[in-house]
Order: sequence, then structure tokens, then C-alpha cells
Amino acid sequence: MSTLRSVRSPTDHVVVVGAGLAGLATALHLLGAGRRVTIVERDPTPGGRAGRLDLQGFRLDTGPTVITMPELVEEALGAVGEKLGDRLELVDLHPAYHARFADGSAIDVHTEPGAMEQEIREKVSAADAEGYRRLRAWLTELYRVQMATFVDANFDSPLDVLSPELARLALMGGFGRLGPRIGSFLDDERLRRIFSFQALYAGVPPARALAAYAVIAYMDTIAGVSFPKGGVRALPQALADAAADAGAEFRYGTTVTGLERSASRVRAVRSVPTGELGADGDRLAADAVVLTCDLPVAYGLLGRTPRRAVPTRWSPSAYVWHAGVPAGTGLGHHTISFGDAWASTFDEIITEGRVMSDPSLLITHPTATDPSLAPAGHELVSVLAPTPNTDVAPLDWARIGPRYRDELAGVLAGRGITLGEPVVEHVITPEDWSALGLAAGTPFSAAHTFAQTGPFRARNLVRGEGNVVLAGSGTTPGVGVPTVLISGKLAAARITG
Ligand SMILES: Cc1cc2nc3c(=O)[nH]c(=O)nc-3n(C[C@H](O)[C@H](O)[C@H](O)COP(=O)(O)OP(=O)(O)OC[C@H]3O[C@@H](n4cnc5c(N)ncnc54)[C@H](O)[C@@H]3O)c2cc1C
Repeated sequence: MSTLRSVRSPTDHVVVVGAGLAGLATALHLLGAGRRVTIVERDPTPGGRAGRLDLQGFRLDTGPTVITMPELVEEALGAVGEKLGDRLELVDLHPAYHARFADGSAIDVHTEPGAMEQEIREKVSAADAEGYRRLRAWLTELYRVQMATFVDANFDSPLDVLSPELARLALMGGFGRLGPRIGSFLDDERLRRIFSFQALYAGVPPARALAAYAVIAYMDTIAGVSFPKGGVRALPQALADAAADAGAEFRYGTTVTGLERSASRVRAVRSVPTGELGADGDRLAADAVVLTCDLPVAYGLLGRTPRRAVPTRWSPSAYVWHAGVPAGTGLGHHTISFGDAWASTFDEIITEGRVMSDPSLLITHPTATDPSLAPAGHELVSVLAPTPNTDVAPLDWARIGPRYRDELAGVLAGRGITLGEPVVEHVITPEDWSALGLAAGTPFSAAHTFAQTGPFRARNLVRGEGNVVLAGSGTTPGVGVPTVLISGKLAAARITG
């Protein structure tokens, strides 16, 4: 058996660039292995894409709202001897989602098997309740087979995945297409959507995504969805606090501008106070460096252009409309409002470069779980609309952004969801993601096409770099909160050997 490559010694002092979830997980795993860690973050607070914004007493989360796989948070905290429960209060969401459809019907998505079977029996049919039971068993086994070998694993070569699990995954239909595979368990079109829309998180339409990506549906619909008291921001804050208590040094408000090298090793990280790009830089000596910024930014710091046979395909982006509204929306924590259109919706945002003509939307109402996130008598709501990324369509968001907000409000009102007159609003468009330095104006990084998955995704150990490791959504295993937490662990393992 080959030994996985790792950074050559010394690795005593590691500089981690970025205090997003990947950087924080990296730091915790390194601290647990006895390394000295300095984290350099351009923002004043931790979280990165799991971001925060305070507006007139409303505490917005600007990034993820669906938190799954808390055991990965537990694992990162466990590396420094801490427990999740001492740092964070996670509230399980029941139901995980409330799905509403164009025909006026609705289905709650429960992660508890009995509750979901009953929901399907009542709202759909006994046959699909039975199909759900088989789907659940398949998803659970898929997750088991995939996790250790393909997700929670470092790769040096595509040959690394040749294993009995690969054969098992193939036998289970993991290399077929997701949409048809889900359809083999469930007849009802609404249920098919509920268990396959997650492909969009991987940046690929369900009809084309690898069935193996049903593993995201496992996390979402079986493993359970939770929400931290205090908002999603409480998650990166908890990780950062634990890292600081374990001895990590944080340099917030500091932008890394370059790496100083001799031969194939980086010797120091150069930085300036954020926003003062002309300023004299600071020099921070490092034995090893972990870069968690978006892939092109990381390669830019390394002065490299990655070698790829075909250009990177970036995921679709998102338009997010946050609104502080008078209490009384009657919404649950997560509502998915499906349009009537389906396959054409993916075509519009992925290939045609247009906003959805009959949108499917994720509506999050965090104050349903934690009312303290809004001033008394008010609620916080966000509406996430998948959109084309700026590579597929360089739309003029400054011009169409405000109109699109009105259009979404109109669509929701037509579907019986009225938000009331907002007292506070904040809109984030693909142009805003671009301004943060995110390639193709998408916060969801490289799409999980076959050619950008597993051992074919940008590796976390860059060829020719003696002591630099990548972590975060652009590298393995990929995009999303659970995955970047794993990427941090894998990056740390490259350093600790
Ligand atoms: C609107 C939205 C909704 C989402 N929904 C979900 C969801 O429901 N479920 C889910 O699992 N995932 C979701 N995600 C994806 C998830 O949030 C990301 O995959 C994850 O947070 C990325 O973490 P990261 O550490 O890789 O990157 P980042 O969070 O981007 O961390 C990188 C850090 O590096 C810093 N940085 C960059 N350049 C420099 C520099 N030169 N010097 C110093 N610091 C630098 C950045 O400021 C940032 O803090 C969502 C994301 C968004 C934006």
C-alpha cells in the first residue's frame, strides 16, 4: 500500500490563511496535533462565507442556513479536547423543510423515518411510503460506503480510489444518474424533487448528477438538520473561540498579499491591514502554510496556473434577499417553494444563463427557531434564488437586482407567501460574490461534475509545493459546511503526516 504524501518537516508553526469553516477546522486539528497555529483573516470576524451582518437589531446570516452532520463539528472541537455542547446550542429542526408545490399541495420533510413514512402515506401514497423506506436504506448504505473511501479521504492519484468500496458503489448504482435513480424508488414527482434537488448544491442538475451525490440528500433528509442558537454565525465563532483557547493566534482584519519562498518551500506569509493595499506589509515566518481562500486566489498567491485538461466549471450562483419584516409570516424555519417548471429551471441557470422563469426558492425564517435574531415584534426572512454564475451569464446585477427582488416578492405572494413591508433589507447578488474574490461570482466554487469530483478535484497538496496545503470548497472533498470541515481535517493530516 502506498503512503500518502505529506508536507516535509519542519511543520512546527503553521499559518492558516482564512478563518472560514475550512480554516478553523484545519487549525483545530493542527492544534490537537501539537502545532503552533496562526490564522490570518481579512475580515474582522471568523466565518467567511458562513458570514454575518448586523442591521438595525436584525442579526443576519449571509451564508448557509442548513447545518447537517454536527458530528464533524464535534470532531473538530474534539481535536482540542472540547465538546460541542459546551460551545454551541444546536436545535434540531422538525420538520427539516416544508415543501410547497405549484399545485398548492405541501409535504413536510421529516428526518425521523416513522414521521416521514406517515407524511408520505397521508399526502402521497402507501406505495411511495414503501419506496421511501427502500430509498432511505439505499441512501444510508450509500453514505456508509462513500464516506470513508471517497469523501473523508486524501488522494494522491485516481488509483487511490480503487477499492472494494468502489465496486460496491458501482453495484449500488452510484455512477448512474441521480434523477432516474431517485425515480426508481418514488413515483410521485414532488417526492422525486424533494430527494434530488440537493444536486444543485453540487452545482449539477439532478438529471445529470452522479447518483453518488444522493449522499447530500442523505445528510439533508436523513441525518438531520439543525440550527445553532444565536444564528449560523455561532458555529464559526465557537470553533474560533475553541482554537483561541487552545493557543491559536488570530490576526483579523489582515489580508494576505503574497508568499515569500526559497526553492520549493514557502518561508513566510506577507500581509497588510485589509483595505490598505499600498501599506507596508507584515512578514510572518511559517514552516507550513494552509490556503483556504477561493481556488484562483490560492493559485494566484502561489504564482501558479493550475494544469487542467478542460477549464474549471463553476457552480451556479445565488441571489439572496434578506428582509426584516413585521411578525406574522407564519413560516416555518425552512420552506422550499417549488415552481411548476423543473428540468428547464436547471437549463436556464446552468446553460442558458437566464434567471429562473418559474423559480424554485429556499425561504429561511431563522427567527422561527431563535426569535432573538430580530427586534421584538419582527421576524427575519431570507429568500435564496439559484442564478447563473457570472461566467455563464455576465448579467448586469446592479440594474436587474432591485427588479429581481420585486419579481421574487410577486412570485411568493402569488404562491400565498406574503412577507409584509420590510423594515430592513439586504440583497446579495452574483456581482457581490465576485467582489469578495469568488471565481465566476459564485459562493459554491467548482461544480461537482465527474471531472471535478473525488480524486479528479483540485488536490489539496499542490505539486511542486513543499509545504503548502489547500483546504476549503475548491479542493477535496468539496462544497458545503460538512465537506469543508472535512477538508480542514484532511489538510491538517497532510501536515501532521
Ligand atoms: C448563500 C449561501 C448559502 C449556502 N448554503 C449552504 C447550506 O445550506 N449548506 C451547506 O452545507 N453549505 C452552504 N453554503 C456553502 C458553505 O457556506 C461554504 O461551502 C463554506 O462555508 C465555505 O467555507 P470555506 O472555509 O471553504 O471558505 P470561506 O468561508 O470563503 O473561507 C475562506 C476565508 O478566507 C478569507 N480570505 C480570502 N482571501 C484572503 C486573503 N488574501 N487574506 C486573508 N484572508 C483571506 C475569507 O475572508 C474567508 O474568511 C452556502 C454558502 C452561501 C454563500
